[in-house]
Amino acid sequence: MSDLSNTLAVATLGFPRIGPRRELKTALEAFWAGRMDEAALLATAADLRFANWLRQRQNGATVIPSNDFSLYDHVLDTAVMLGAVPPGFDWGEGPVPLSTYFALARGDKDRPALEMTKWFDTNYHYMVPELGPRQDFRLADDKPLREFIEARDAGIHTRPVLLGPVSFLLLAKMRDGGDPLALLHRVVPVYVELLQRLKAAGADWVQIDEPALVLDLDPAVLAAFGKAYPVLAQAAPGLRLLLAGYFGGYGDNLDLVLRLPVAGLHFDLLRGGHEINEVMRRQPTGKLYQLGVIDGRNVWRADLAALLDRLEPVVARLGRDRVILAPSCSLLHVPVDLALETGLDPDLRRWLAFATQKIGELAILARGLGQGRGAVRAEVASAADALEARRISARIHDPKVARRLARVTAADARRAHGFETRRDAQKKRLNLPDFPTTTIGSFPQTAEVRQARAAHARGELSAADYDTFLKAATAEAIRWQEEIGIDVPVHGEFERNDMVQYFGEQLAGFAFTRTGWVQSYGSRCVRPPVIYGDVSRPRPMTVEWARYAQSLTEKPMKGMLTGPVTMLQWSFVRDDLPRADVCRQIALALRDEVDDLEAAGIAIIQIDEPAIREGLPLRRRERADYLAWAVECFRLASSGVRDETQIHTHMCYSEFNDIIQSIAAMDADVISIETARSKMELLAAFADWRYPNEIGPGVYDIHAPRCPDVAEMTDLLKTAATRLEPGQIWVNPDCGLKTRKWDEVRPALANMVEAARRLRRAM
Ligand code: GLN
Ligand code: ZN
Repeated sequence: MSDLSNTLAVATLGFPRIGPRRELKTALEAFWAGRMDEAALLATAADLRFANWLRQRQNGATVIPSNDFSLYDHVLDTAVMLGAVPPGFDWGEGPVPLSTYFALARGDKDRPALEMTKWFDTNYHYMVPELGPRQDFRLADDKPLREFIEARDAGIHTRPVLLGPVSFLLLAKMRDGGDPLALLHRVVPVYVELLQRLKAAGADWVQIDEPALVLDLDPAVLAAFGKAYPVLAQAAPGLRLLLAGYFGGYGDNLDLVLRLPVAGLHFDLLRGGHEINEVMRRQPTGKLYQLGVIDGRNVWRADLAALLDRLEPVVARLGRDRVILAPSCSLLHVPVDLALETGLDPDLRRWLAFATQKIGELAILARGLGQGRGAVRAEVASAADALEARRISARIHDPKVARRLARVTAADARRAHGFETRRDAQKKRLNLPDFPTTTIGSFPQTAEVRQARAAHARGELSAADYDTFLKAATAEAIRWQEEIGIDVPVHGEFERNDMVQYFGEQLAGFAFTRTGWVQSYGSRCVRPPVIYGDVSRPRPMTVEWARYAQSLTEKPMKGMLTGPVTMLQWSFVRDDLPRADVCRQIALALRDEVDDLEAAGIAIIQIDEPAIREGLPLRRRERADYLAWAVECFRLASSGVRDETQIHTHMCYSEFNDIIQSIAAMDADVISIETARSKMELLAAFADWRYPNEIGPGVYDIHAPRCPDVAEMTDLLKTAATRLEPGQIWVNPDCGLKTRKWDEVRPALANMVEAARRLRRAM
C-alpha cells in the first residue's frame, strides 16, 4: 500500500470488542467479582481499543471506527450518553460511574436491570433503553468524544460511530407505551452538540448507524428521518455524516435514504445487492458510497474474483474516490482472528475468514480496483483455489443426504392422525393426571458438573469415570423428581455442554472452533458451530441416556432434543445452499433420532425450538416463506412417530402474536412457553387463536434466583385456566434450570407440584 491514492478506501463499521482471547470478558468478570479494580478494568478496555485500531490498520483498513467499543453494550452506551436512564439510576454530572452503568446492565440489589433483547436478527442482545413521556436528554456522557480523542492522541484518526437518534428511539421502550418518536425533537439537539464537539476535536466524518432503515417503516418514521437528518447534517460545518443502514437493503426506504442530505451512505450489498444499480442509474453526485461487500454476518471466505467483476463497473461509474469498501455490517458478529484457530481441520480453515481476515479481503479488493487486477493476481487466485476446493470437497457433499432430501414428501411432514386422535391415544398410554407437571429439560449445571466435564475434556477424568459421574447425577435428579411428584420427569441434560453444540458434535457436517467467540451480550460470548457440509446423523445421539433414565422410573421420561431451526439459527450456516435446505437436512437427522427414541420406549419427546421466532426475517414480505419452511422442518423432525408418542416443543423469549398461526401449524402435542414474567400475557395469543393442542405456560421465572410460592403459581395457573381449557394446561417452569442452583430449584419445583395439586382439587 505504498501509493494510497491508487487504492480505494477500506472502512469497517465496528470491530469485535471482546478481544481475540476474550480479554474483555475476563476483565469484566474479575471486576464484578471484586478481583480487579476500576483502573485496571479501564486500562484493559483501553488496551483492547488500541489493539483493535492497530489490527484494523495493519490489515488494510483506512477508515477506522471509534466508539464501536463498549464495556457492555452500545445501545446502553447511547442511552447513558443521552442521560436517558430510568428514575433511580441518575448519577448527576460527568461521566457515568461504572457502578451505575453496570447496575443498568445487570441490575443490583435494589434495582432491576434494563430489559435485554435481540439486536435486529442477530444473536447479539442489547439493553432496551427505557424512556418516560417527558424524557429529558442531555449530553450526559461524552464517550464518543473521549474515545475519538484517545485514538487521536495515539496517532489514529478515526471515524466515530454513533447509533442514530431514530433507531435509538425505535429500539427503546416507552414507560407509558407512547410513541418514542415524539421525543425526537428533544434528542436531536444532543446529537448536534456531540457532533459539534467531535468536529472541534478534529473529526471529519462520523458514521451514524440507522439500522432501522432496513425495516418496514411507517410514514411517521420516514418523516422522522426527514426531520432529523437535515439538522444533523448541518450540525457542524465541515463535518460529514456517513449514514449506515445494514442487515438488509433499504428497499422501499431507498428513495428517502437517497434524499437525506448526508455526505455518505452505506449499502449492505450482501442482503440488498441490487440497490447499488439503482444508485448508479440515478447517478447522484457529491455523495460517497460505502459498499458493504464482505459478509459481516458469516465466516466464509469471499469470492474475490466475483466481487471484482461486480465492483469494477460500479467503481468505474461512481469514481474511485467516491467508493469505500466495507463489510456488510459491523464485524461484531464474527470471531476476531482465524489465525488463532489452530486446531481446526486445515481444509475447512482455508475456507473461512474471521473479522481480521475480512479486512484483509477488503484491502485486496481495494487494491485490485485501484490498480487493476494484475496487482492482486496471486491473492485472487488463492481465494479462487480455496473456493474451488470447497466447492468440490467430498466433505461437503454427501449424495445420500441429497437423495434423501429429494425423496421427502408432504406426508413425511404430517403426523398420521390429527391432534384429537393422538390425544386420545396418548391419554390411554400415559395416564397422566390433569395439569400434569414437568420441567423444560435441564437441571442445574453445578460447578461440580462443569468441573467434571472440563476434567474429562482435559483428559484428567476417564470416559468411564465421567460416565459414572453423569449417571449418578442423572439418577439423583430422577429420584428427586419422583420424590416431589413430578409427573413427567426429565434426565437433566447433565451430559450436555450446550443445547446446539451437544448435537452438532455428533452430527456430520458441523465443525466447532476453539477460539471463534462472538459476543452474545455483555461479557457473554458464544462459539457458534460452523455448518459446512451436508448434515446427517452417523449414529444415535441421546438414545442411551434416555434409555438409562427411563430404566430408573416407572413414569414416562421425556426425551430431549434441540430442534432444526434452533440449530440453524445458532450456527454459522454454509452459504452454498439455501438455509431452508440446510434446515431440512438437520430435520431429517433429528427425525431418525426421534424414531429411535420412540423405538427405545420413550413415550414423550420434546424438540426445543426457542429460536424459531428470532429467525423471522426483518421484512414482513419475507416472513411467510421463512415460517413455512421452519414449520415444515419441525414437522419433518417430529412426524415419524405413532399417535401414542407425544411430541412436545418448547419456546422462550418469544412473543407469539404475529406467529401464532405457524406455532399452531407445528402441531406439537404440547408446547411449553415462557409466561411467568409476563403474568400469562403471552397466553393471550394462544387463547385468541383458540390454540387447539396442549400448552404448558411457565409458572416459574427461572431468570431470577427467587423462589415463587405455591399461591403465586396457583394464581398464575388460574389465570391460565380462564384463557385456556383446563384440560389443555400443563404445569412447568418458563425454561430450563441449568443456570439456577439446586437450593433455588428444589423448593420452587416442590411448590409448583403443590400448585398443580391444589388446582386439581379446585377444578
Ligand atoms: N431443554 C433446554 C433446557 O432445558 C431448553 C433450553 C432453552 O429453551 N433455551 O435447558
Ligand atoms: Zn427456554
